[in-house]
Amino acid sequence: MEDARISDLRARIDTLNLDLLRLLSERAEVAEAIGRVQSEVGLSHYDPVREQRMLDALTDANRGPFTDTVVKSLFKQIFQASMQLEEQQDKVKYLTSRHSQSADTVVTVGDVPIGSQYAPVLIAGPCAIESREQVEAVASLLAERGVRLFRGGAFKPRTDPYSFSGLGEEGLRIGREACDRHGLQFVSEIMDASNIAAFEEYVDVLQVGARNMQNFTLLRAVGRSRKPVVLKRGLSATIEEWVMAAEYLMAEGNDQVILCERGIRTFERYTRNTLDVSAVALAKLETHLPVIADVTHSGGRRDLLVPLTKSALAVGADGIMIEVHPNPAVALSDNKQQIDFEAFDRYLAATLYDTKLTAKRTELYGF
Ligand code: PEP
Ligand code: MN
Repeated sequence: MEDARISDLRARIDTLNLDLLRLLSERAEVAEAIGRVQSEVGLSHYDPVREQRMLDALTDANRGPFTDTVVKSLFKQIFQASMQLEEQQDKVKYLTSRHSQSADTVVTVGDVPIGSQYAPVLIAGPCAIESREQVEAVASLLAERGVRLFRGGAFKPRTDPYSFSGLGEEGLRIGREACDRHGLQFVSEIMDASNIAAFEEYVDVLQVGARNMQNFTLLRAVGRSRKPVVLKRGLSATIEEWVMAAEYLMAEGNDQVILCERGIRTFERYTRNTLDVSAVALAKLETHLPVIADVTHSGGRRDLLVPLTKSALAVGADGIMIEVHPNPAVALSDNKQQIDFEAFDRYLAATLYDTKLTAKRTELYGF
């Protein structure tokens, strides 16, 4: 039998616990409200001066029985918990974030699932669509090899304004016809929001190129489309900037977003760009979106295609993009790095990239 005095006192403690919980929750809600305003105006959640003032006010008011040190350490715990809440709140608002969606997004192009546990996809084709014959040659080879996604640019972003910049809408038509003939899904780069209607008509996947990663008007227009999107990482974009660009797409309602690491500009000159494999892994950790790697534009070297592919797949890439051309020597763009059909077959053999595989990636790679 418990002493009646203890039971009474314990009952008071129980009530006080509930009062404290109510006050703590109320305090947390106010802290969240402050956090929202801080995020809105771009202020940091952590304000050491304010924190010190609150601790001073508490120790001034403290009449015991807890010592000032104990009061401070109790309240520091409360401050820290509030801060975590504010930070969590920041992340949850981003649609791309793992905090808002823990399950992997699977983007389905036609009947091809990309992401999560599915076997890595291969997106192959010429840098630019140059002619009906060229596209037919590549598309028929790819289809024969079991590739499901064909890439080819009709609107090409070029450094030199006098160089070949694509066949435009006619290129899209050529690509569409070849893809229909061979049961392929068509991926092509959109450079300008004004072309969205044509892309809606001819293309299965809208590609936003590296140079346009922060073209916010284009991102919003593509975000309003319901076509899947491949979003390339900008030439010098941080992972955060890249993910925020994806956020633009998702904020407009397009949740079919595939991130594509395509190499970033560094001091290195042996390669055209530096494939950032850590970005592939990080993008998969931080976001729930599928992440692929473009091994052609990243290294800019044919002799790196196999090792870069293997490294990207090893860190969890959900697919690879590669450029294939019937006769790269005469290609109208990127003629130094596209590969011909024989090299493509060697590439498939060397990377063990069996495009006909339907096995889940976990069965293929053990992770
Ligand atoms: C492309 O894939 O054709 C291309 C131009 O790539 P990026 O935007 O990555 O340079
Ligand atoms: Mn190219």
